[in-house]
Amino acid sequence: MADSTKIENNPKIMSGPVLTNSPNAVLSKTLLGRYQDLPVPGDKIIATYIWIDGTGEHLRCKDRTINFIPKQPKDLPEWNYDGSSTGQAEGHNADTYLVPRAIYKDPFRRGNHILVMCDTFKYNMQPTETNNRLKCQEAYDKCRDEEPWFGLEQEYILLDSDLRPFGWPPGGCPPPQGPYYCGVGANKVFARDLVQAHYICCLYAGIPIAGTNAEVMPSQWEFQVGPSVGVTAADDLWVARYILHRLAEEYGVIVTFDPKPVADWNGSGAHTNFSTKKMREPNGIIEIEKAIDKLSKVHMKHIKVYDPRGGKDNERRLTGLHETASINDFSAGVANRGCSIRIPRAVAEEKRGYLEDRRPASNCDPYSVVDALMRTCILNE
Ligand code: ADP
Ligand code: MN
Ligand code: MN
Ligand code: MN
Ligand code: MN
Repeated sequence: MADSTKIENNPKIMSGPVLTNSPNAVLSKTLLGRYQDLPVPGDKIIATYIWIDGTGEHLRCKDRTINFIPKQPKDLPEWNYDGSSTGQAEGHNADTYLVPRAIYKDPFRRGNHILVMCDTFKYNMQPTETNNRLKCQEAYDKCRDEEPWFGLEQEYILLDSDLRPFGWPPGGCPPPQGPYYCGVGANKVFARDLVQAHYICCLYAGIPIAGTNAEVMPSQWEFQVGPSVGVTAADDLWVARYILHRLAEEYGVIVTFDPKPVADWNGSGAHTNFSTKKMREPNGIIEIEKAIDKLSKVHMKHIKVYDPRGGKDNERRLTGLHETASINDFSAGVANRGCSIRIPRAVAEEKRGYLEDRRPASNCDPYSVVDALMRTCILNE
């Protein structure tokens, strides 16, 4: 048995240089207010282009001025960046292209300013290795009539600038898990302010955030987005992640989506709730069971795309303990949180609704997860 008073840290999280303090934490939070509301020329807006870098896990962004108010992503110019600085191109042929795909209101700048989720293309206009959006869009286009809905539960953990969980006692652990999930009180939950700011910012941006709760580990939280339709669900989640990272910058804390930063404590997942029109209709449970049967036959194929390292990250999380099923086995059950797939109790009672795929890791690319579910359950690929 591991000593629960010692942190057995995931070396990936803990090996970096240790900051004594985030410089952001000590910068004035009010000075910007002097300039934020300066009247700017009415025909100019700022667009933040956001994209996934070569890790398939981390986000990048840059800003540009646009001289009109776009109605749809297609109105916006394509752009480029130095892919050799993001792990997406060689230095001698570095131009990598950004294609706008989804527009959100910018909660940081307000007004007509926008956030633009993009996907990325190489110099030869082939998708980059981490552009999983293109395939997801193709799959969705083939099954629009089935109206696939996705509700994504995003768990995450806040770290202090020393890369240990935020608010944990120096050199040790808080008392064992139990009182923290949906907890209330200063010794149970940390950084609720940040969570609240994120909730409001997502609503303002136009992201259908469905809810939020404190999770099993102190400084672990969850939010849910959706249900959203097809590829849009993944756009929504990536931009919600972007907003969370941006807010955390201001608070001087770090958000990690690593699925298992601390051994012997609950990890983080991205449970994916999925339904089709037929599953939502009376007796849709039959369709849900058919989908589960199809999923049971391609378990490892899904595991490979449910984290950015082909299943390696989820190996640390899907141990069969801590409300997970073993990475090696497929299982399904009603109201069972130790299964790969859970049918919520209310769904079993009403005989219609949705299924919950509990396997995706918190750092998954939701484009890949949504893509895999549509291809297996609807397109029979
Ligand atoms: P859990 O009990 O697993 O913690 P949550 O309440 O966190 O569940 O998340 C459930 C998610 O399922 C929500 O994001 C919700 O929007 C989504 N959801 C509800 N109905 C459907 C549906 N028919 N299809 C897909 N997702 C759905
Ligand atoms: Mn430059
Ligand atoms: Mn949940
Ligand atoms: Mn949860
Ligand atoms: Mn869940």
